[in-house]
Amino acid sequence: QNRLKALGDKSLFSPKHVHVIGGGVMGGDIAAWCAMQGFKVTIQDLSQDALGRVVGRAVKGFKRRYRKDKFRIMNAQDNLIPDLHGHGISKADVIIEAIFENLEAKQTIFKDVEAKAKPDAIIATNTSSITLNEIAEVMKQPERLVGLHFFNPVFKMPLLEIIYTPDKTDPKVIELAQSFGAHIGKLPLPVKSSPGFLINRILMPYILEGVTIHQEGVPAAVVDKVAVDYGMPMGPLELADTVGLDICLHVGKILADKVGVTLPNTLDSEVESGRLGKKSGQGFYNWK
Ligand code: NAD
Repeated sequence: QNRLKALGDKSLFSPKHVHVIGGGVMGGDIAAWCAMQGFKVTIQDLSQDALGRVVGRAVKGFKRRYRKDKFRIMNAQDNLIPDLHGHGISKADVIIEAIFENLEAKQTIFKDVEAKAKPDAIIATNTSSITLNEIAEVMKQPERLVGLHFFNPVFKMPLLEIIYTPDKTDPKVIELAQSFGAHIGKLPLPVKSSPGFLINRILMPYILEGVTIHQEGVPAAVVDKVAVDYGMPMGPLELADTVGLDICLHVGKILADKVGVTLPNTLDSEVESGRLGKKSGQGFYNWK
């Protein structure tokens, strides 16, 4: 608790409403987490079906967390509001984009968000690998954009990287983002925008080397068991399936390009054939 306080001062900011754009693996769980912390959360995705899936998954999460406490389950459920047309953007105190990892698509979102958001709202992206500078190129006030980089699974992982661009991101925005991190019970750590930020720069080589060893003929379960026996909480291939192989490929390519990690050549074909890990039901393991 003291560590949380040291990293984010709750008294700086009193957010009440969070708007999340993109209800996939991350956005859905970020929205559910914030709803559980007592925030009103509007969640936006491309179809009613997608929003129905977000709410279904969130309710399962609430029930797992709160077991038989129906009151808390109902409260969290009431806080989570599907919002197909993004009406929440203009009312929210914090707006978090978590759509798929594509620069042009994210830029389109931020042009719209910047035009509609309240002047003092936090405008944030959950991107794992695109620099803030690139996304903010299309914004009139690029100093407003900050990264709120959550980790998967959101319900379990305490760290929240607060991504900023030195000499560009408004220091006040970084402070408010840290304050928000403290409000939602995460550990908000400021990290400069750079390839892989901090954690993925460390974790992705672990995943990629695991995939390479598997590619050389060692069964996935053996690679993972050795890592877990050594003391890692999860083996590299199970972690790859949890993160999503498409995300691993995307971040891996950037790290290969910018810091020289070696990309296993089977990852491309896994993604091309639709084996994306847990979210598609099949990756290095069968999750169906
Ligand atoms: P995902 O593919 O599971 O979900 C993306 C969601 O965005 C989908 O539901 C899609 O329908 C929706 N979407 C796409 N375009 C949209 C639009 N224009 N408006 C509204 N919704 C739209 O992706 P994900 O794994 O949740 O990743 C989302 C972001 O989070 C990416 O930027 C990724 O780099 C980042 N991230 C991922 C992880 C991870 O472990 N998967 C961890 C940290 C950060």
